[in-house]
Amino acid sequence: MASEKLTTTAGAPVPDNQNSVTAGPRGPILMQDYQLIEKLAHQNRERIPERVVHAKGWGAFGTLTVTHDISKYTRASVFSKMGKKTDLLIRFSTVAGELGAADAERDVRGFSIKFYTEEGNWDLVGNNTPVFFIRDPLKFPDFIHTQKRHPRTNMRSPTAMWDFWSLSPESLHQVTILFSDRGLPVAPQYMNGYGSHTYSFWNKTGERYWVKFHFKTMQGHRHYTNREASKVIGRSRESYQEELFGAIERGDFPRWRMQVQIMPEVEAEKTPYNPFDLTKVWPHKDYPPIDVGILELNRNPDNYFAQIEMAAFSPSNVVPGIGHSPDKMLQARIFSYPDAHRYRLGTHYEALPVNAPKCPVHTYHKDGAMRFFPNMPNPDAYYEPNSFNGPVQDPSALEPPIRISGYGTRFNHYEGNDDYGQVRALFLLFDQGQRQRLCSNIAEAMIGIPQEIIERQLGHLQKVHPDYASGVRQALARLAEENAAAPSVAAE
Ligand code: NDP
Repeated sequence: MASEKLTTTAGAPVPDNQNSVTAGPRGPILMQDYQLIEKLAHQNRERIPERVVHAKGWGAFGTLTVTHDISKYTRASVFSKMGKKTDLLIRFSTVAGELGAADAERDVRGFSIKFYTEEGNWDLVGNNTPVFFIRDPLKFPDFIHTQKRHPRTNMRSPTAMWDFWSLSPESLHQVTILFSDRGLPVAPQYMNGYGSHTYSFWNKTGERYWVKFHFKTMQGHRHYTNREASKVIGRSRESYQEELFGAIERGDFPRWRMQVQIMPEVEAEKTPYNPFDLTKVWPHKDYPPIDVGILELNRNPDNYFAQIEMAAFSPSNVVPGIGHSPDKMLQARIFSYPDAHRYRLGTHYEALPVNAPKCPVHTYHKDGAMRFFPNMPNPDAYYEPNSFNGPVQDPSALEPPIRISGYGTRFNHYEGNDDYGQVRALFLLFDQGQRQRLCSNIAEAMIGIPQEIIERQLGHLQKVHPDYASGVRQALARLAEENAAAPSVAAE
């Protein structure tokens, strides 16, 4: 097969792609060599700002197939009938590491889904854990600073992490999950996904329900211990990409069972815990998970950069039938995610092919950098209201009001809030082996941090369960003994 002709970006044929244009046989290069200049200039612009959090990611396309009817809770078109299939994109990620970080590191994993529905894109920007470290977005930038590099040493700082966590006991639930077996999955297909926040559903008659989303792995949970992961990282820093990309290439498509927990609107004021607090789960016995459908990944991206690096997910992308909740962390993300995308990708990031909805898009937004798509059908209708048959609002998409007393007040969400009970429920689910690994993982992560911070954190663990605190204390003592016995580097 004859090859295509190489061209410049303006489409002109490139006559020579081996020799730059010079003044003579031994140089120098002439400035008129626009092909060389174009090539070098493009190379300088091959990187865009990496995400401050969730920089390293892996993703693929797939479908959601509805297997159970939940249309009495929501009018969302994606759930309108049994057997309905909706195209989707998932990007998995780690939180703290930069773009070049190793995949098999202990960290929370992002689990972001973009459903390309008939009424616009619905993004569920979740994690592989049902809770998060904090419940108020005012603490988010500080928390992320503790996960990133120290300003002077330019290294990650266990002292900063444990200092922050021990001063923020609401983090204990997520910290316990992070240092448990599930904190280090073997690959994306072996972990659950959770919407984490409370969202809402609203149905055709305007009734609202609060909802939590769950995606249960159908491959089974598989995790690495710290030892196993360090061996994997020694062999490959891209183990997740290998596992996920490889499985889909082989036709071994990963699947998850999608479930929801549903809470009637008025019950939100009666639960003993705040159902909008991101550090809490809804116990399954109170709100049993309901099956919804099967999510499958079955197509790898053709261009990683264009389809995964430039994929932009935002909790602000909801569709009729799905709404937000008073969760403060969710509300901050509704602002923060589109803000990050405008900075990283530019004003028209939603028009990039991977982000563009599959349904028609009609806005009156105008101009701006990289306005690469054409006018709406009628160019005279470029403002609203107008007399030129331009697009108009659709009152049928109006969401019912949120009926929560005191909505909009600045409450104290720390005083009297139990940060220990649900962690205890989780600790009690662990068998002896899981408890032992949890305690050693925590002890290993505490190496070298000030004793005062260790004691503060042990005080929190004691409130969860005496075995939790004593387990970490014993693991710390064991590590100290091992370190004392080990020959120093200088002696080797
Ligand atoms: P359940 O006994 O019904 O616990 C349900 C959840 O715990 C299941 O989703 C299960 O996930 C998960 N789970 C079981 N074993 C482990 C483990 N070793 N590590 C992590 N998660 C595990 O009780 P509750 O609903 O009252 O929850 C008890 C605790 O379980 C909570 O405090 C929370 O920490 C944790 N949890 C609860 C979830 C919820 O939505 N209620 C969701 C996930 C965790 P799976 O089915 O995949 O095995």
